[in-house]
Amino acid sequence: MLLRLRTPLTGEQYVTQQGWLKASLTCCPLHPAGGCGFARHGSYARKRPRGARIARWYCPQGHRTFSLIPDCLAARWSGKLQAVEVAVMTAEIAPSLVAAARMLRPEIEEAGAVRWVRRRKDAIDDCLHRLRGLLLDLLTDCAPTLTACQIALGQTPLLPALREIAAPWLDQLPPPFGFAHRCSGGVSTSPSRQHTMGPDPPGSGA
Ligand SMILES: [Zn+2]
Repeated sequence: MLLRLRTPLTGEQYVTQQGWLKASLTCCPLHPAGGCGFARHGSYARKRPRGARIARWYCPQGHRTFSLIPDCLAARWSGKLQAVEVAVMTAEIAPSLVAAARMLRPEIEEAGAVRWVRRRKDAIDDCLHRLRGLLLDLLTDCAPTLTACQIALGQTPLLPALREIAAPWLDQLPPPFGFAHRCSGGVSTSPSRQHTMGPDPPGSGA
Protein backbone atom coordinates (compact mmCIF):
# COMPACT_ATOMS: atom_id res chain seq x y z
CA MET A 1 0.00 0.00 0.00
CA LEU A 2 1.27 3.44 -0.88
CA LEU A 3 1.05 6.33 1.56
CA ARG A 4 2.06 9.94 1.18
CA LEU A 5 5.34 11.28 2.54
CA ARG A 6 4.62 14.97 2.97
CA THR A 7 7.80 16.83 2.07
CA PRO A 8 8.86 20.09 0.43
CA LEU A 9 12.02 18.43 -0.95
CA THR A 10 12.62 18.37 -4.69
CA GLY A 11 13.61 15.08 -6.28
CA GLU A 12 17.28 16.08 -6.19
CA GLN A 13 17.08 17.13 -2.54
CA TYR A 14 15.26 13.93 -1.59
CA VAL A 15 18.17 11.94 -3.01
CA THR A 16 21.03 14.08 -1.66
CA GLN A 17 19.42 14.40 1.79
CA GLN A 18 18.34 10.73 1.79
CA GLY A 19 14.79 11.76 2.59
CA TRP A 20 13.64 8.16 3.07
CA LEU A 21 15.79 7.91 6.21
CA LYS A 22 13.80 10.72 7.85
CA ALA A 23 10.42 9.33 6.84
CA SER A 24 8.34 8.11 9.75
CA LEU A 25 5.12 6.22 10.19
CA THR A 26 4.18 6.24 13.85
CA CYS A 27 1.48 3.58 13.87
CA CYS A 28 0.08 0.82 11.70
CA PRO A 29 -2.59 2.15 9.32
CA LEU A 30 -4.51 -1.11 9.81
CA HIS A 31 -4.14 -1.32 13.59
CA PRO A 32 -3.77 2.19 15.05
CA ALA A 33 -4.02 0.78 18.58
CA GLY A 34 -0.85 -1.27 17.97
CA GLY A 35 -0.05 -4.80 19.06
CA CYS A 36 0.32 -6.13 15.51
CA GLY A 37 4.12 -6.13 15.31
CA PHE A 38 4.18 -3.17 12.89
CA ALA A 39 7.78 -2.15 12.20
CA ARG A 40 10.08 -0.44 9.75
CA HIS A 41 10.93 -2.77 6.89
CA GLY A 42 13.94 -1.14 5.28
CA SER A 43 13.69 0.62 1.95
CA TYR A 44 13.75 -0.25 -1.72
CA ALA A 45 15.52 1.45 -4.61
CA ARG A 46 13.93 3.43 -7.40
CA LYS A 47 15.55 3.25 -10.82
CA ARG A 48 14.98 6.99 -11.21
CA PRO A 49 15.89 9.42 -9.88
CA ARG A 50 19.14 7.57 -9.50
CA GLY A 51 19.93 6.95 -5.84
CA ALA A 52 16.36 7.43 -4.59
CA ARG A 53 14.93 4.92 -2.14
CA ILE A 54 11.42 4.47 -0.73
CA ALA A 55 10.91 3.90 3.01
CA ARG A 56 8.78 0.91 3.85
CA TRP A 57 6.97 -0.58 6.87
CA TYR A 58 5.42 -3.97 7.43
CA CYS A 59 2.44 -5.24 9.44
CA PRO A 60 2.89 -8.98 10.06
CA GLN A 61 -0.68 -9.38 11.28
CA GLY A 62 -2.16 -7.78 8.18
CA HIS A 63 0.53 -9.16 5.82
CA ARG A 64 0.89 -5.69 4.33
CA THR A 65 3.78 -3.44 3.41
CA PHE A 66 3.39 0.34 3.47
CA SER A 67 5.59 2.50 1.24
CA LEU A 68 5.96 6.24 1.78
CA ILE A 69 5.98 8.07 -1.55
CA PRO A 70 7.42 11.59 -1.25
CA ASP A 71 5.54 14.46 -2.92
CA CYS A 72 8.41 14.97 -5.37
CA LEU A 73 8.25 11.46 -6.87
CA ALA A 74 5.81 9.81 -9.22
CA ALA A 75 3.73 7.01 -7.71
CA ARG A 76 3.96 3.55 -9.27
CA TRP A 77 6.05 5.07 -12.08
CA SER A 78 9.75 5.73 -12.09
CA GLY A 79 11.02 9.29 -11.92
CA LYS A 80 10.01 12.66 -10.56
CA LEU A 81 6.48 14.03 -10.51
CA GLN A 82 7.78 17.36 -11.80
CA ALA A 83 9.26 15.62 -14.86
CA VAL A 84 5.78 14.30 -15.66
CA GLU A 85 4.44 17.84 -15.27
CA VAL A 86 7.04 19.24 -17.68
CA ALA A 87 6.17 16.60 -20.27
CA VAL A 88 2.44 17.23 -20.02
CA MET A 89 2.84 21.01 -20.14
CA THR A 90 5.03 20.67 -23.22
CA ALA A 91 2.30 18.57 -24.83
CA GLU A 92 -0.32 21.18 -23.91
CA ILE A 93 1.51 24.03 -25.61
CA ALA A 94 2.98 22.12 -28.56
CA PRO A 95 1.05 22.20 -31.86
CA SER A 96 0.69 18.40 -31.76
CA LEU A 97 1.64 15.34 -29.75
CA VAL A 98 4.19 14.50 -32.44
CA ALA A 99 5.79 17.91 -32.05
CA ALA A 100 5.88 17.48 -28.26
CA ALA A 101 7.35 14.01 -28.65
CA ARG A 102 10.13 15.32 -30.92
CA MET A 103 10.99 17.99 -28.35
CA LEU A 104 10.86 15.73 -25.30
CA ARG A 105 12.30 12.45 -26.59
CA PRO A 106 14.45 13.24 -29.64
CA GLU A 107 16.71 10.28 -28.88
CA ILE A 108 14.07 7.61 -29.55
CA GLU A 109 11.97 6.74 -32.59
CA GLU A 110 8.92 8.90 -33.11
CA ALA A 111 6.17 6.32 -32.48
CA GLY A 112 7.72 5.40 -29.15
CA ALA A 113 8.17 9.04 -28.21
CA VAL A 114 4.52 9.78 -28.99
CA ARG A 115 3.43 6.84 -26.82
CA TRP A 116 5.69 8.15 -24.04
CA VAL A 117 4.08 11.60 -24.16
CA ARG A 118 0.53 10.30 -24.60
CA ARG A 119 0.86 8.00 -21.58
CA ARG A 120 1.77 10.98 -19.40
CA LYS A 121 -0.81 13.32 -20.85
CA ASP A 122 -3.64 10.78 -20.65
CA ALA A 123 -2.78 9.91 -17.04
CA ILE A 124 -2.70 13.53 -15.89
CA ASP A 125 -5.79 14.49 -17.96
CA ASP A 126 -7.70 11.67 -16.26
CA CYS A 127 -6.48 12.83 -12.87
CA LEU A 128 -7.39 16.49 -13.48
CA HIS A 129 -10.89 15.53 -14.65
CA ARG A 130 -11.41 13.58 -11.43
CA LEU A 131 -9.99 16.40 -9.33
CA ARG A 132 -12.37 18.92 -10.88
CA GLY A 133 -15.18 16.81 -9.47
CA LEU A 134 -13.55 16.62 -6.06
CA LEU A 135 -12.21 20.16 -5.66
CA LEU A 136 -15.42 21.93 -6.59
CA ASP A 137 -14.48 25.28 -5.07
CA LEU A 138 -11.02 25.35 -6.61
CA LEU A 139 -11.19 23.79 -10.06
CA THR A 140 -14.77 23.64 -11.32
CA ASP A 141 -14.42 26.72 -13.52
CA CYS A 142 -10.90 25.78 -14.57
CA ALA A 143 -10.07 24.02 -17.84
CA PRO A 144 -8.77 20.49 -17.20
CA THR A 145 -5.21 21.31 -18.21
CA LEU A 146 -2.09 21.63 -16.11
CA THR A 147 -1.55 25.14 -17.41
CA ALA A 148 -5.03 26.29 -16.32
CA CYS A 149 -4.80 24.51 -12.96
CA GLN A 150 -1.38 26.07 -12.28
CA ILE A 151 -2.94 29.51 -12.76
CA ALA A 152 -6.09 28.69 -10.78
CA LEU A 153 -4.14 27.37 -7.79
CA GLY A 154 -1.13 29.69 -8.11
CA GLN A 155 1.33 26.80 -7.85
CA THR A 156 4.32 26.04 -10.08
CA PRO A 157 5.23 23.22 -10.17
CA LEU A 158 1.69 22.15 -9.53
CA LEU A 159 1.64 18.38 -9.07
CA PRO A 160 3.80 18.06 -5.92
CA ALA A 161 1.78 20.86 -4.25
CA LEU A 162 -1.46 19.32 -5.45
CA ARG A 163 -0.65 16.18 -3.44
CA GLU A 164 -1.28 18.29 -0.33
CA ILE A 165 -4.59 19.67 -1.61
CA ALA A 166 -5.75 16.28 -2.88
CA ALA A 167 -4.36 14.28 0.07
CA PRO A 168 -7.75 12.82 1.16
CA TRP A 169 -8.30 11.26 -2.28
CA LEU A 170 -4.82 10.08 -3.30
CA ASP A 171 -5.77 6.42 -2.93
CA GLN A 172 -8.60 6.97 -5.45
CA LEU A 173 -6.57 8.89 -8.04
CA PRO A 174 -4.55 7.23 -10.79
CA PRO A 175 -0.76 7.14 -10.94
CA PRO A 176 1.66 8.77 -11.38
CA PHE A 177 -0.08 11.50 -9.34
CA GLY A 178 -2.31 9.34 -7.13
CA PHE A 179 -1.74 6.03 -5.44
CA ALA A 180 -4.60 3.97 -6.88
CA HIS A 181 -3.92 0.77 -8.73
CA ARG A 182 -4.05 0.80 -12.46
CA CYS A 183 -7.52 -0.20 -13.62
CA SER A 184 -5.89 -2.57 -16.09
CA GLY A 185 -2.49 -3.50 -17.37
CA GLY A 186 -1.92 -6.69 -15.47
CA VAL A 187 -0.63 -5.23 -12.24
CA SER A 188 -1.18 -7.71 -9.45
CA THR A 189 -3.43 -6.56 -6.65
CA SER A 190 -2.83 -9.64 -4.57
CA PRO A 191 -2.58 -8.57 -0.93
CA SER A 192 -0.06 -11.32 -0.30
CA ARG A 193 2.46 -10.12 -2.88
CA GLN A 194 5.26 -8.16 -1.28
CA HIS A 195 7.83 -6.12 -3.13
CA THR A 196 11.51 -6.04 -2.50
CA MET A 197 12.90 -3.58 -5.04
CA GLY A 198 11.86 -1.86 -8.22
CA PRO A 199 11.61 1.34 -10.20
CA ASP A 200 7.89 1.26 -9.46
CA PRO A 201 6.55 -0.59 -6.47
CA PRO A 202 5.51 -3.87 -8.11
CA GLY A 203 2.32 -5.32 -6.71
CA SER A 204 2.27 -2.55 -4.19
CA GLY A 205 -1.29 -3.14 -3.18
CA ALA A 206 0.56 -5.46 -0.91
ZN1 LIG B 1 -0.83 -3.67 11.80
